[in-house]
Amino acid sequence: MTAQVPHILVVGGGYVGMYTAYGLRRAARKGKIRVTVVDPRSVMTYQPFLPEAAAGSVEPRHVVVPLRKTLKGCRVVTGRVTGIDHAHKVAKVMPEEGPEYELAYDQVVVALGSIARTLPIPGLAEEATGFKNVEEAIALRNKVLDRLDVASSQPDPALRKSALTFVFVGGGYAGVEAFAELEDMARYATRYYDNIEPADMRWILVEATNRILPEVGPDLGKYTVDQLRKRNMDIKLETRLESCEKGRVVLSDGEEFDADTIVWTAGVKANPALAATDFPLDEKGRVKCLANLRIEGVTDAWSAGDNAAVPDLTSDSGAYCAPNAQHAVRQAGRIAANILRTVDGKPPQDYEHKYVGSVASLGLHKGVAQLFGIKIKGWPAWFVHRSYHVSRVPTFNRKARVILDWTLALFFRREVTSLGTLQAPREEFRRATQS
Ligand SMILES: Cc1cc2nc3c(=O)[nH]c(=O)nc-3n(C[C@H](O)[C@H](O)[C@H](O)COP(=O)(O)OP(=O)(O)OC[C@H]3O[C@@H](n4cnc5c(N)ncnc54)[C@H](O)[C@@H]3O)c2cc1C
Repeated sequence: MTAQVPHILVVGGGYVGMYTAYGLRRAARKGKIRVTVVDPRSVMTYQPFLPEAAAGSVEPRHVVVPLRKTLKGCRVVTGRVTGIDHAHKVAKVMPEEGPEYELAYDQVVVALGSIARTLPIPGLAEEATGFKNVEEAIALRNKVLDRLDVASSQPDPALRKSALTFVFVGGGYAGVEAFAELEDMARYATRYYDNIEPADMRWILVEATNRILPEVGPDLGKYTVDQLRKRNMDIKLETRLESCEKGRVVLSDGEEFDADTIVWTAGVKANPALAATDFPLDEKGRVKCLANLRIEGVTDAWSAGDNAAVPDLTSDSGAYCAPNAQHAVRQAGRIAANILRTVDGKPPQDYEHKYVGSVASLGLHKGVAQLFGIKIKGWPAWFVHRSYHVSRVPTFNRKARVILDWTLALFFRREVTSLGTLQAPREEFRRATQS
């Protein structure tokens, strides 16, 4: 090794990566360890706020946390890890520009998260969008508002109908929150169109199982279905998307229609980049971990979050921790503490956390929550959702900005400006060069 102090390489700067480095930053500033975080993005995304960012309740820049600013004392590399050879303790890094290079380390934290779990559905890759990143949230908001502009200015009834049809596939919290928040925003926006009524829009949620929002339990899942149906939203349970070629949606219940907007939120799978490592993976492609978050069978390697199979010590049935932020944040704290313990020659400690429940927003002043077994609905749940997440979003700066966004929204009308042209910023200039 070149360095005198242990070099900790954190692969991924999302929940697990950012919070692990955050827990190590003081030791790094004191020169006890060296920490490098590698991520293709220079920001950590607070994903639970993406539906509100899409709906315009929170400024998109406020739901991301800049890594360099937050992780003072750590080195941040903007690049993609393309392989890890733990036997030799080196990782390959592909920077945004320039050739790939190798980075040596003493201990590694594998925090690559997950990607959308897709199926080989005809048309899906070409027509659908995911909902995991801030750019997807911004694009979706712009697209929904842009489709209202298109429908309002379009005399052809078929094209107008297609523009006003919004399909979401997958009924977990990411899908349901995005679906409900965007409908709420679009419903509000229709007041500015003299020829679009809320009833002209069709919002369809397609879910393969017989329930939505499993995170809040069956009762609140059913309550959510009822509430969304009361808003005239079409919830199709036990239904699958069969194809969506050229925007022609075909569902397993036999229905067929055209839709300009198709959003895929049907679950996640461990980041496939793990295949380019020499770590043990389970049948779901996750890194196999011990309860102390060490990777099985090796030393000096740790993992947690969506890309890891971590035994849930609070369950008797041998289950693994669910892929969610609640575990990711706490596991990251445990990894940071364990790394510092091992540097001091102490044994690592096990991770144990009993899941406290989930909160979900269903639009402005609407929500469901299940905390410590207590079921909460409507406005109180929405308030719990906001309070919980603002307490969780990292850094005082981001908390303050999000609260300011909400406070401003109390005094001004909802912001529903369509910036559809953001998706093609060079278009006007390109036309100018051709005239
Ligand atoms: C819309 C949405 C809403 C959600 N709401 C909730 C909620 O309300 N409550 C809750 O508990 N959970 C929620 N979640 C889930 C939660 O966000 C995840 O469980 C959590 O982000 C997992 O953390 P992670 O660190 O494992 O992965 P991530 O936070 O996704 O971080 C992975 C990081 O790895 C980076 N990366 C990827 N490939 C590479 C590579 N090759 N090299 C280097 N870096 C790489 C990525 O850029 C990313 O920064 C939500 C998720 C979404 C998408």
